[in-house]
Amino acid sequence: MQWETVIGLEIHAQLATKSKIFSGASTAFGAEPNTQACAVDLGLPGVLPVLNGEAVTMAVKFGAAIEAEIGLRSVFARKNYFYPDLPKGYQISQYESPIVGMGQVEILLEDGSSKRIGVTRAHLEEDAGKSLHEDFHGQTGIDLNRAGTPLLEIVSEPDMRSAKEAVAYARRIHQIVRYLGICDGNMQEGSFRCDANVSVRPMGQEELGTRAELKNLNSFRFLERAINHEVERQIDLIESGGKVVQETRLYDANKDETRSMRSKEEANDYRYFPDPDLLPVELDEAFIAAIIADLPEMPDTKRHRFIVSYGLSAPDAEALTAGRALADYYEAVVASSGDAKLAANWVMVELGGALNRVGMDILDSPVKAESLGNLVARIKDDSISGKIAKQVFEAMWAGEGDADTIIESRGLKQITDSGAIEAVVDEVLTANPQQVENYRTADATKQPKMLGFFVGQVMKKSQGKANPQQVNDLLLSKLSL
Ligand code: ADP
Ligand code: MG
Repeated sequence: MQWETVIGLEIHAQLATKSKIFSGASTAFGAEPNTQACAVDLGLPGVLPVLNGEAVTMAVKFGAAIEAEIGLRSVFARKNYFYPDLPKGYQISQYESPIVGMGQVEILLEDGSSKRIGVTRAHLEEDAGKSLHEDFHGQTGIDLNRAGTPLLEIVSEPDMRSAKEAVAYARRIHQIVRYLGICDGNMQEGSFRCDANVSVRPMGQEELGTRAELKNLNSFRFLERAINHEVERQIDLIESGGKVVQETRLYDANKDETRSMRSKEEANDYRYFPDPDLLPVELDEAFIAAIIADLPEMPDTKRHRFIVSYGLSAPDAEALTAGRALADYYEAVVASSGDAKLAANWVMVELGGALNRVGMDILDSPVKAESLGNLVARIKDDSISGKIAKQVFEAMWAGEGDADTIIESRGLKQITDSGAIEAVVDEVLTANPQQVENYRTADATKQPKMLGFFVGQVMKKSQGKANPQQVNDLLLSKLSL
């Protein structure tokens, strides 16, 4: 039987406000446990929540970025359940009227085509505290610092058909919230969390299969692995006569498996009702229009612009617009080098590789965009070859100065003086009479390969500095005599 995978993601993005969604307590990460939870976060009697306007603005920014309908009137609701890290006994969330309605994003598939993924809704809610099971033997610690931290829960349509598509979608949302500056995207610290709803159905069947929800996926790699495991588990289960039950499963990265955590609650178990302590949020069109007008250029637009104005391939444009800082860096290299394609290669391959090796952010790069642009310009105007340029780049990385200085002080300038190149070519031909003879009597189809030997010798003698095109041309004309 052929099976089709169906995936929908629920993403919790922690909004980068300074204070909590309904109180003035700080949201800074890493403080001593229970030092950043105030009476409102703890749900003590006699206090009332006050909505943080910044969280509303951030949610609207997100809605605008995915071209969603913005709810002009959204309502906070109480989601009732007991959990030790939820002292109020309910979580304030949005249920029937979310602040962001239907929208969509575009993902790039491996074959280069793109696909639209629907975003059902995005709503504001508060985070709960954290239970600490490992620090206390036989006991559980509760840290309420996170209680009341603003979250934007972004719910997708079940539009994804593979783990790879799910990762591409999650990365796209991650990219969007970072472009907007509304979430730091730190997955280790839990600022960006993905839950994956996974089901399978026989290929061609319309009706959706029963889903399991996977939790605890704190990296894109784990997201992909957990989904693939879960799909396999469900198919094995069904094919051996079993049935998938709707449940929440926890991914264990150490064992690389998912295991059942609890059977899934239905919405009516939560007894949602509008929170009597909070007024509905009413937005006017002018407020929304101002936010839309103020949006930065978003990834899709930037990517398409890079393809059109710089002639980049879709995957290259995707890679270079992954983050705003990288895209800005690239554009500065283009501006100072005048060659968009060469600039793309140097930013992605040489610079990207060097940054990766040391795990460094583009903002901390020891080679600034203008310097890299200068290096690329020297390749473009034939001052140095691409190969020599790698040497120059290493020296720049090590802090030896800018490209021109290094080329000068190390005597790396390419030899373009045809007289000088011809002397070396002649030297090589005279030193290898047998090879010359072999070349001249060889079949024409074999000659290009044989030419490589002579090119190599000339480049070696000139310490890589002879202009490769000139070397080629000269050798060809001399060997055909
Ligand atoms: P709940 O509120 O119980 O979490 P929702 O209906 O809000 O359930 O759906 C949550 C997520 O699960 C959404 O992203 C949705 O696209 C996805 N989803 C729903 N049904 C399925 C299914 N059968 N297979 C895969 N994903 C699904
Ligand atoms: Mg849900």
